Amino acid sequence: MDVVVVGAGPAGSTAARDIAASGGRVVLLDRATFPRDKPCGGGLTRRGVRLLDVDVEPVVERSVSAVEFRFRFGPRVLHRSDGPMVLMTRRRALDVFLVEQATARGAELREGVRVRSVELDEGGATIRHDGGALRADAVIGADGANGVSRRALGLDPPPLGTVAFEGNVDLDRVRMPHDRMLFEVGTVPGGYGWVFPKGDHANVGVWGWKGEGPRLRAHLDRLCAAHDLRADELSDLRGHHIPLRRAGAPAARGRAALIGDAAGLADAVSGDGLFESFLSARLAADAVGDLLAGRAGDLHGYGRSLGEALRHHTPMSWGAKAIMERAPRLSFAMVRPPAAGRAMIRRVSGDTGGHRSGLGVGRALERVARRAALATDAG
Ligand SMILES: Cc1cc2nc3c(=O)[nH]c(=O)nc-3n(C[C@H](O)[C@H](O)[C@H](O)COP(=O)(O)OP(=O)(O)OC[C@H]3O[C@@H](n4cnc5c(N)ncnc54)[C@H](O)[C@@H]3O)c2cc1C
Repeated sequence: MDVVVVGAGPAGSTAARDIAASGGRVVLLDRATFPRDKPCGGGLTRRGVRLLDVDVEPVVERSVSAVEFRFRFGPRVLHRSDGPMVLMTRRRALDVFLVEQATARGAELREGVRVRSVELDEGGATIRHDGGALRADAVIGADGANGVSRRALGLDPPPLGTVAFEGNVDLDRVRMPHDRMLFEVGTVPGGYGWVFPKGDHANVGVWGWKGEGPRLRAHLDRLCAAHDLRADELSDLRGHHIPLRRAGAPAARGRAALIGDAAGLADAVSGDGLFESFLSARLAADAVGDLLAGRAGDLHGYGRSLGEALRHHTPMSWGAKAIMERAPRLSFAMVRPPAAGRAMIRRVSGDTGGHRSGLGVGRALERVARRAALATDAG
């Protein structure tokens, strides 16, 4: 076997698709059986879709072309884009669709296989699972926030833990217009509240530092009350981690690479992780291509290309998070002007122009926000 990919979420299935499409023999393992669900808003940004390079139309329930920010359930600002900004999906449908893209190109899916350990050596990796073991020239850890790969590969430090809690409610119970996604800022330390309209329901949730875990239910109740919803109307309530990579944490070791949430790649300020999952998957697949073609002896090239690809993105996200945390009122004032809305929409659309100008400031703010995150991570 050339490659084993552990975890068939958006990151793993995208990597497997690319590797198989280039002629690699790849096995995609998942402990779950598809279709399976995953706690997630299911919002696919346009930059994510562009990068994925697959027509996701069959699994899109709603296309959103406006974003509304509210400050502490009060003042609001609305920004509209010219076209679709975020495509709303359900993970139950999106993930199986992406798995099918991988198998259609020749990846072999093995479901209901729980990986227990991954051992690296000079020639590749041994992946032990409930039913036995597999040998591969390279391994990709794509087993999400609670997987085993990162630890098994010794790729420390672990990401910072943040937590999210969400549920669904009938769409006709949501009074806001259904053409937009809504963020309630200044309401949860380390994050925000959200309302995302889907086909027949809306996804309503809250996200914050790990220490907010015991208070997430209360945060969600407040968000519901602000939207004239009863908290007991929400169905499918569930929580999950959103891991944030620590500065300088390695993403590759020998012939192993971590991608998506396994590497803690979610955006520090928005909590989105799908774009980063696709990005890291495609870069890891490129590095595997180099390995299989004999152009490289390991997957360290992936670590370098990931660092380069996120060089501007990461400091800007942490910088925005620092402002949101330390000066939430100021951060709301900063997103109000139409120019700020246009810049945000460009970013979500994958047009990175203008990103680079504030890099030095972004880096300084990143340090501030990371210090705040570390202080709460102990909580
Ligand atoms: C509440 C919430 C809302 C979110 N909303 C958004 C959003 O709207 N937009 C966005 O872009 N991002 C969002 N995110 C982030 C996004 O969900 C993640 O970044 C994304 O799922 C990461 O994909 P992944 O493939 O890395 O991991 P996952 O999607 O977690 O997939 C990992 C896979 O690995 C499998 N696995 C785990 N352990 C093992 C094992 N030992 N053996 C075999 N298989 C294993 C799992 O079964 C799973 O299928 C949200 C996250 C949360 C928690």
